[in-house]
Amino acid sequence: MKSAAFAYHAPAAVGEAAALLAAHGERARVLAGGQSLVPLMHRRIERPEHLVDLNRVAGLDRLEAGPEGLRIGATARQRQVESDPAVAARWPLLAEAIAEVAHPAIRNRGTVVGSLCNADPSAELPSAALALEGTIVAAGADGEREIPLADFFTGPGETALSRSELALELRLPAPPPRTGSAWLELARRGGDLPVAGVAAVVSLDADGRCERVRLVCANAAPVPLDCRFQAEALLGAAVDEEGAAAVGAAVAAAAGPVDDYQGSAVERRRVLAVLVRRALLLAAERAGGRS
Ligand SMILES: Cc1cc2nc3c(=O)[nH]c(=O)nc-3n(C[C@H](O)[C@H](O)[C@H](O)COP(=O)(O)OP(=O)(O)OC[C@H]3O[C@@H](n4cnc5c(N)ncnc54)[C@H](O)[C@@H]3O)c2cc1C
Repeated sequence: MKSAAFAYHAPAAVGEAAALLAAHGERARVLAGGQSLVPLMHRRIERPEHLVDLNRVAGLDRLEAGPEGLRIGATARQRQVESDPAVAARWPLLAEAIAEVAHPAIRNRGTVVGSLCNADPSAELPSAALALEGTIVAAGADGEREIPLADFFTGPGETALSRSELALELRLPAPPPRTGSAWLELARRGGDLPVAGVAAVVSLDADGRCERVRLVCANAAPVPLDCRFQAEALLGAAVDEEGAAAVGAAVAAAAGPVDDYQGSAVERRRVLAVLVRRALLLAAERAGGRS
């Protein structure tokens, strides 16, 4: 099937894009890489009357790593971010998670910010970026605002962006020293969305004790499941098998995964418990202090 008819807009500036979204509201959609939106349009699940293509807006493809952190513009491709040496060195969780998204051809077009705006709770990047404490910079007719990812995902396919706003960029803070991270997932086939996925970030003190931990699970709830409360049981001690397994069990109990053709909720809870344990241990090892 082909998509329903729509008017195509290719603004050259952010202000122009924001004005188009304000003018057309619910009838408009932003186009970034098109790797989620276009298939939905072809199946007529999405039928926008106006498509606002961001790809000709100058500067939105920026990828800038500095002492303060990382800035990923709205049209920076997943592949560009995945292969960037500064990302690999300082935000390896992001590179590791992107490598599990679909296939290289799709990552050549798909954008990191588009994946966050798509807000699929089973997708890799919303969970990874939340674990890295990202913030979305949004632009609308009234100017710009910052939305921490902790407040960004509001339901499957739903975000805190209004229909007249676009996401300009994702900002990730610089991780503290002695930080390790891991993305682990189980997928039926390579390139599929995960049955369950886990992003873990562990920071250690000079004596190898856990002083900061972030844990987010994909496909465990209607939004990326922030499990920092369960993970905080690890604070103040070395991360070991027993502690990590206890967090895995607590996360499995707290999760509310779906039952679908890829796996039952019971199976997904079991998978989450295992992935959480392994991801925490791997992140601690990469931080330099697994006991
Ligand atoms: C075969 C296949 C396999 C895939 N496998 C995976 C997978 O394993 N894991 C995974 O996570 N994804 C997967 N995807 C989805 C893919 O990674 C998409 O690239 C990603 O979900 C969306 O990014 P995009 O840039 O293509 O966004 P688009 O498709 O252009 O947009 C997606 C949605 O976000 C909105 N949007 C995009 N950018 C903005 C913005 N800047 N401001 C406001 N709204 C915006 C759009 O309006 C639309 O509603 C797969 C896709 C295909 C076709």
